[in-house]
Amino acid sequence: MLFSERVPCGRLTPDDVGRQVLLAGWVDAFRDHGGLLFIHLRDRSGIVQVVVSPEVAPSEVCERAAALRSEYCVAVRGQVKQRLAGTENPRLDTGTTEVMVTELTVLAESDALPFAVSEKAMVAGAPSAEAEQVAEDLRLQYRYLDIRRPSMLDNLALRHRIFQTVRQFLDERGFLEIETPVLTMSTPEGARDYLVPSRVHPQNFYALPQSPQLFKQLLMIGGVERYFQLARCFRDEDLRPNRQPEFTQLDLEASFIDEEFLYELVEELTVKMFAVGEIELARPFPRMTYAEAMDTTGSDRPDLRFGLRFVDVTDVFAHTDYAIFRQILQRGGCIKGLNLKGQSPRLSKNVLQNEYAKEIAPSFGAKGMTWMRAENGGLESNIVQFFSAEELEELRRRFDAADGDVLIMVADPSYEVVTSALGQLRLHLAHRLGLIPAGSFCPVWITEFPLFDPTDEGGVTSSHHPFTAPDRTDFDPTNIEELLALRSRAYDLVVNGEELGGGSIRINNRDVQRKIFAALGLSDEDVRERFGFFLRAFDFGAPPHGGLALGMDRTVAMILQTSSIREVIAFPKNRSAACPLTGAPSAVKREQLAELELLNLGGQDLLPGTAEKEDWIDRLSWVSRIGIGAEERSVMEETVRRAEALAALAAEKAGGEKPMYSVVPVANRMRPGIEARRSELAQSGRLLKNAPSTKGDYFRVAGILE
Ligand code: ASP
Repeated sequence: MLFSERVPCGRLTPDDVGRQVLLAGWVDAFRDHGGLLFIHLRDRSGIVQVVVSPEVAPSEVCERAAALRSEYCVAVRGQVKQRLAGTENPRLDTGTTEVMVTELTVLAESDALPFAVSEKAMVAGAPSAEAEQVAEDLRLQYRYLDIRRPSMLDNLALRHRIFQTVRQFLDERGFLEIETPVLTMSTPEGARDYLVPSRVHPQNFYALPQSPQLFKQLLMIGGVERYFQLARCFRDEDLRPNRQPEFTQLDLEASFIDEEFLYELVEELTVKMFAVGEIELARPFPRMTYAEAMDTTGSDRPDLRFGLRFVDVTDVFAHTDYAIFRQILQRGGCIKGLNLKGQSPRLSKNVLQNEYAKEIAPSFGAKGMTWMRAENGGLESNIVQFFSAEELEELRRRFDAADGDVLIMVADPSYEVVTSALGQLRLHLAHRLGLIPAGSFCPVWITEFPLFDPTDEGGVTSSHHPFTAPDRTDFDPTNIEELLALRSRAYDLVVNGEELGGGSIRINNRDVQRKIFAALGLSDEDVRERFGFFLRAFDFGAPPHGGLALGMDRTVAMILQTSSIREVIAFPKNRSAACPLTGAPSAVKREQLAELELLNLGGQDLLPGTAEKEDWIDRLSWVSRIGIGAEERSVMEETVRRAEALAALAAEKAGGEKPMYSVVPVANRMRPGIEARRSELAQSGRLLKNAPSTKGDYFRVAGILE
């Protein structure tokens, strides 16, 4: 079979009628019309109907065809024909043609399928399998079959297209695609590291990168000026929907630039990426400071597809008689609310009081929720009698309330509680009331983040990462209040309430970087140990630089409007960070752990079941680099027991003498024949100063070499 002649199934057009073609792919579906067999043959390009008719095909082809089942991999040869009028399938791109088979080869058979792969019904009007709900873990277990489904394959193809768009655009803008190491040191991005043990350096670990942050900054110091990478990043975080332990970031960095350069670059790129999904984004993207976002939406990733902005009404109640509000305000609290325009027919008193005030608002952390309905030119609720006419009048004015509107308010001594609870109510209500327009995309830059967040221990932690430039550099790193007032030169790109990415202008001055580490409470030694190599680079003329990373799985999922990011990743982990296809993560053989010298790490407590005797066997196993299987263990135990008994006997016979240590005489192995010279350090004794045990000029080692 000459596969070079192969024609893609989905590309056949009426122009091909009369042509002899070779097709190869999978049996998507088949229908037997009493000896006349219709097959949907599918390959990556699409589906075409092939027909096996006893009038055209030799009898052995008909017999072979009759034995075909779903997902058999086959090749057919035949002539392209125009379908008879009335038998066209409008759901297929090739629906006006079919191929009359004359040759058929079964390339590989298929077992019965765990779920349907076919998404296109053969008969016009019949329901397609597209909507079939297959348990996600089953799909992931048989991901290769799942990927055969055209909708899944389309997702991967569009992801590819978006990635190519990124590459082309950044190449045109002078960015170099450069890979950075995957086996590396810890990079601080606020998550836990995945560690990889080194066999060559026993009991030492690489960390998988949480991001290429340190390396991309080193590339800037290396004079690369413009870098990007579609980088795999790894973060061992608690499970949350739409998070993956490994994910892909578009990571970029540039030198001699400022925020405006990045806004312009990333906006243009984002517009191009969304255009792949036929989504038009208007530029420039609006910008909002962190403070404004929190103040008006209660979130640093505000969903701006709908209004429901918060109105601050704290001052309206400055002299209120309503005891609850008065007490809250006396404790320095605030009151914010929002207006659900025209929603009173859909939000009954019962729903507002019994669902929202009593259940939903408290579940979002609020101690209560106040609601009022605008009616008959005034405001109605279960508590309006406690407010003065002026207060009610002012509320109507502030909220721009008209009859039919519903106002909800949250009051609390804590600003965070008010904004967080009202922010969640805002989203809950927008979803419930259907206020989010379908197919709308609202990007926004969030700027001027706080540089630090407070810690429970009374210190500070970086809200982005410690390399982000502060808005000013004359701060005192020991003054917590001053540190918490600092803003950063960081920015996040948020679309529809999801953070697609973020970055910052970096610190390029070593003294400022040291001050930030000091503010974070890192000792000089910590800094040296963790970032010494990085800080050293700043001693050599670091250019001003900045960058950003976009979460590509999220971005692609948003552009393709899929239900989860797993739909745009070929082999994702499931919701519990496991891979149902390969079974990862999995236990490893003791031999592997022994080889990596990990069996004794952390002692017995950390490895339950590792008895001391077993430790001995494992120890021997790695010292001698011989794997000891479970069935050999008892033999080894007996051998070790006998050896120990023998050693005890020998010690007894030697009259309590300590075991002997023999050392090799000093010799010059590099230049044989030339007498070895003892260094001055050795002569003065400084060379062995840190040795745990010495004998004369020698450093004692244990009886067994480890
Ligand atoms: N490294 C950051 C992150 O992964 C992004 C950046 O600052 O460029 O979130």
